[in-house]
Amino acid sequence: MSVLVLVEHTEGIIKKKSFEAVQYASHIAKQNGATVTAVVLGNAQSSEIEGLGAYGAQKVLYVADARLDELHARAYAKALIVAAQKEDSKIIIALHDINGRAVAPRVAVKLKAGLVAGALSYPDTEKGFVIKKAVFSGKAFAFVNILSDAKVITLMPNSFQLNKAEGKATVEKLDVSFDEKDFGIKVKQVNKVSGEVSLADAELVVSGGRGMKGPENWGLIEDLAKELGAATACSRPVADSHWRPHHEHVGQTGGTIRPNLYIAVGISGAIQHLAGVNGSKTIVVINKDPEAPFFKAANYGVVGDAMEVLPKLTAAVKKYKETHK
Ligand SMILES: Cc1cc2nc3c(=O)[nH]c(=O)nc-3n(C[C@H](O)[C@H](O)[C@H](O)COP(=O)(O)OP(=O)(O)OC[C@H]3O[C@@H](n4cnc5c(N)ncnc54)[C@H](O)[C@@H]3O)c2cc1C
Repeated sequence: MSVLVLVEHTEGIIKKKSFEAVQYASHIAKQNGATVTAVVLGNAQSSEIEGLGAYGAQKVLYVADARLDELHARAYAKALIVAAQKEDSKIIIALHDINGRAVAPRVAVKLKAGLVAGALSYPDTEKGFVIKKAVFSGKAFAFVNILSDAKVITLMPNSFQLNKAEGKATVEKLDVSFDEKDFGIKVKQVNKVSGEVSLADAELVVSGGRGMKGPENWGLIEDLAKELGAATACSRPVADSHWRPHHEHVGQTGGTIRPNLYIAVGISGAIQHLAGVNGSKTIVVINKDPEAPFFKAANYGVVGDAMEVLPKLTAAVKKYKETHK
């Protein structure tokens, strides 16, 4: 029996969150006396593929079809099902991101598997196969027991620390016969966000809200982000007002992020905003209103005017970096 894990890559480079998924699969495999088989779809670099061994994959099944460089949920699901049958896999893992959320339910339906979407813990096998996940926009946790023989899990990225070890995976080609219907979507154009840290993968994020007053003040957010090597984000009204691009909007109707550090500047902390960021490991809030709701969710808070606090914080980070070279 093998635990199967779907691995994602961008232009051939495997994403850090996929290493986390492989490591997660490796832990579950050990719990179940199984091995780990990673499934890589599209043209990933061979050194990257072999490198999956360092996170616990014994084997990689690789479908070198350039069409799979883009997400095609039907084709991805088909490849995973073929791999699951080949490897006699009863546990299938994907990431809880745009790809995993599209593919995992399809696989679960086909395999008549129970699905836990957005897992935050390893399965507790003492009383079945119980996995913790966030519910009600992160306000509560549910502990879900998967009773079916086949199990599909999507893992919330940045839930576990990565530990690299020694190890190389063996790589095998997987034959999957796709048909036209599996590629029902045609990507016409890709507009890349360049020159910035990708928000989805960022470990540090500096985010601004309506308290920043207008786009002309965003240089203060960007200066701090640059100094920290962080990505920038924003609240919904900021994106709606076109102060910032929509891909930066986080919250219930925007992106969900789980960085190690989230610095919220001039953001009130409405529940809809918190829904996208309350999985962050450490939250720092800068707000001039000491009663702002965000302070209740914060690990650290600064009561003050963002226009005064941000330049001082940026200067302090700069000084720290210079003295700790
Ligand atoms: C169905 C639905 C979905 C939604 N989805 C989202 C979502 O995905 N993401 C999201 O963000 N919102 C979402 N919202 C909107 C949400 O309810 C809030 O209205 C929004 O988050 C408020 O944005 P804000 O905190 O930037 O602005 P405000 O609520 O206007 O807060 C501005 C904050 O800045 C502070 N401030 C002002 N001046 C300064 C200064 N000089 N220095 C420091 N602090 C200052 C103020 O004290 C205040 O706390 C949704 C709403 C609905 C109804």
